[in-house]
Amino acid sequence: MALLIRNLSQIATPAGSAPKRGRKLRELVTYEKSVIVVREGRFAYIGPENDIDDAVRETITEDFDARGATAIPGFIDSHTHIPFAGYRESEFNRRLSGETYSDIAASGGGIASTVRATRAASEEELSANVVTRARTMARYGTTTAEAKSGYGLNLEDELKQLRAIRAAGETSPVRLVPTCLAAHDFPPEDKSNAWVERIIDEIIPRVAAEKLAVFCDVFIERGVFTREQGDAVLRAGARAGMTPRVHADELSDTDGASLAASLDAASADHLMHISDAGIAALAASNTVANMLPATSFFLMSDRYAPARKLIDAGAVVSLSTDCNPGTSMTESMQIVMQLATLQMKMTVEESLTAATLHGAYSLRLANETGSIETGKRADLVLLDAPSYFHLVYHFGVNLVRDVLRDGRFVVRGGMYLG
Ligand SMILES: [Zn+2]
Repeated sequence: MALLIRNLSQIATPAGSAPKRGRKLRELVTYEKSVIVVREGRFAYIGPENDIDDAVRETITEDFDARGATAIPGFIDSHTHIPFAGYRESEFNRRLSGETYSDIAASGGGIASTVRATRAASEEELSANVVTRARTMARYGTTTAEAKSGYGLNLEDELKQLRAIRAAGETSPVRLVPTCLAAHDFPPEDKSNAWVERIIDEIIPRVAAEKLAVFCDVFIERGVFTREQGDAVLRAGARAGMTPRVHADELSDTDGASLAASLDAASADHLMHISDAGIAALAASNTVANMLPATSFFLMSDRYAPARKLIDAGAVVSLSTDCNPGTSMTESMQIVMQLATLQMKMTVEESLTAATLHGAYSLRLANETGSIETGKRADLVLLDAPSYFHLVYHFGVNLVRDVLRDGRFVVRGGMYLG
């Protein structure tokens, strides 16, 4: 029972499961005049149709005409905040009219408004929101996404967000990987260190006992959590079996990237203000430098993570949406790639690997997904385009026509298959 995908203009993919550093990040494998065979949810063959071996050929029961599409791996969005309720579109307009983020926060807006709405929502509502966002993600080519808590900011509401992610995973077209981000901020009712102690003594043990999160994350920033508080939370998470991730050096240099590297964290994220020492620390580590250019764009900042410096120093770089209602309201990895190239001067090849294989690597899934290779899960995107360059060249439109996850169509002809 195999599916043959034929009539592809091109197949473009990073190779292997190991991360690519420096010049190697530019190396994509491309196939022309080739086909893909998918069997039992995995890639069974990639190459010229005439060379399919008989054992595989005999199992082909279905034939799909890709009508000249370009095949790329499904995007891996390794940093999102999708279990939220309520939008902040009016706040967005206030920023456009000249109010600052602190003006808006002082009047009860900002993250506090999302915390209020998320606390007020039921687990079922949050789960439905996650599925809705995952459907949009799928239509834009994402097949795996990380999803963080962090808008509950108390035990019950953090657990509710994580349970909502787990419930959404049952019907989501996108594979979801949960992260506990109780240390996203201090709750409005408690700005003391007691909150850090509660995260360590109450929340992390409960999350671990219910197996609700794979990763534990902390927002290290001036006025939020210090490096020391972040270190304590991440160590507690690691003792409970959750691998660290770090919101690092986003609004100021707080040495978060170095902390992430020293803890062998899966990723250090944002990095707009990373220092040269932080870049060197990441380059010498296996911690992925996860860059979120849509956030800079949406906040109308001209400050982007220093992609070229990170790549040239030898860091492993990835790209994600940061999808959240305040600072990056998008599910599209295509616009992230467009910003990575046009604003951060990454090449198209570099940004495609960063948006696929390296996201998988940071989620500890690179052996399973992130590239089009025999044996990996058949997470595949067919673009309505003659080559992968169109991902950037033909900007601002959705090029995704068909999406398979685990070998099953979840989007066909641009439509989500519900
Ligand atoms: Zn974030």
